[in-house]
Amino acid sequence: MEQKNFPCKGCGNGCFLEVTYEPERICAIQGNSCQNGRRYAEELLLCQVVEISLPTTDGRTILARTAEPIPLKKREECLKECEGIVMETPVIQGEVILYDAAGTGVSLIAAKTVI
Ligand code: SF4
Repeated sequence: MEQKNFPCKGCGNGCFLEVTYEPERICAIQGNSCQNGRRYAEELLLCQVVEISLPTTDGRTILARTAEPIPLKKREECLKECEGIVMETPVIQGEVILYDAAGTGVSLIAAKTVI
């Protein structure tokens, strides 16, 4: 378990959160005045933007990333869904490559334009 202390930015109330967590869950939280504080801590500590390089049909690679952070526990599932994807160029930055990656409701998008 790890512990981090930081201000919640869920609203302007300025609660100071003390959070104990494991890689996939919040174990304990103190200092939050509402449940949005827990959600804020979860998004900050247990989610990340997933990035992956995908091959293109002309032998290059493009960088793809989730449009928003997704739960860390969904990372492997997301990467597995990307197996076998080969992109046809041109690819435009922000183009959706995969909708609802790993059932998170977040899309995987092209991080850069490749012409
Ligand atoms: S814990 Fe709730 S009340 Fe406190 S700063 Fe976060 S969102 Fe605002």
